[in-house]
Amino acid sequence: MNSKCPIILLICCLLAVLVFAGCAEPISYPEFVSPELRTLPEQPLILPEYRIIGYSVRKTPILCTVIGHGQDVILILATIHGNEPAGTPLVRQLSKYLQQNTQLLIGRKVVLLPMANPDGLAYNSRCNANGVDLNRNFATDNRINNRKFGYNALSEPEARAIEQLISEYSPDRIVSIHQPLACIDYDGPAFSLANRMAQHCNLPVRKIGAKPGSLGSYAGLTLGIPIVTFEMKQSDSFLGSDALWQKYGDSLLAAITYPQTLTSK
Ligand SMILES: [Zn+2]
Repeated sequence: MNSKCPIILLICCLLAVLVFAGCAEPISYPEFVSPELRTLPEQPLILPEYRIIGYSVRKTPILCTVIGHGQDVILILATIHGNEPAGTPLVRQLSKYLQQNTQLLIGRKVVLLPMANPDGLAYNSRCNANGVDLNRNFATDNRINNRKFGYNALSEPEARAIEQLISEYSPDRIVSIHQPLACIDYDGPAFSLANRMAQHCNLPVRKIGAKPGSLGSYAGLTLGIPIVTFEMKQSDSFLGSDALWQKYGDSLLAAITYPQTLTSK
């Protein structure tokens, strides 16, 4: 046997020990990762669920996205009035943002309805294809039965889909996006939520008053759910989704993280 063999064997053993010792060291960030990124909380993988919650009068699917699995539930819907289109791209932008920033969804579930009145949006009409104002079609103490508001509560499929969505998810708070009154209105116990949202955009809080058969009256007064009617400006219809997000994104995120304070977008 070669006399150098034990020495070579010893060197190999020492090298093996060093390699395994190196593997046991805690994983560290490479030097190029900035200190801010090192402190970011981990992004849990949360996949959105896409659902059809009903069909419009003209059989257009009414689509909803549900993101997160937590107990704190927030419903955000847009374009219940079809001639108030800016909320639709804004809510779609919100959906993208949440899917990329899933730490916001820890303990929460966000239900997004970007186009509550698809027929009205297609025809630039406030009402649905039956000529009924969906935001007057809910079952409330102050409702008025007529052709424009519906001859009975929930006569319209779009209003029924929203009512069923609220019944299924029991949201802790609701934001309904409208135009063009340029203010943040609220119904039910939502004064504090409205003020929090106003801190993150240039719209003032203004109490307009409960409208007959409105979603605000239904959710806020009948069910006691805090609901904000987020009235953007008429001119917001001409903004692209990025500009809308820059203008109002923080305010929507503040509603999602409420009552926690939103630190930054
Ligand atoms: Zn409206």
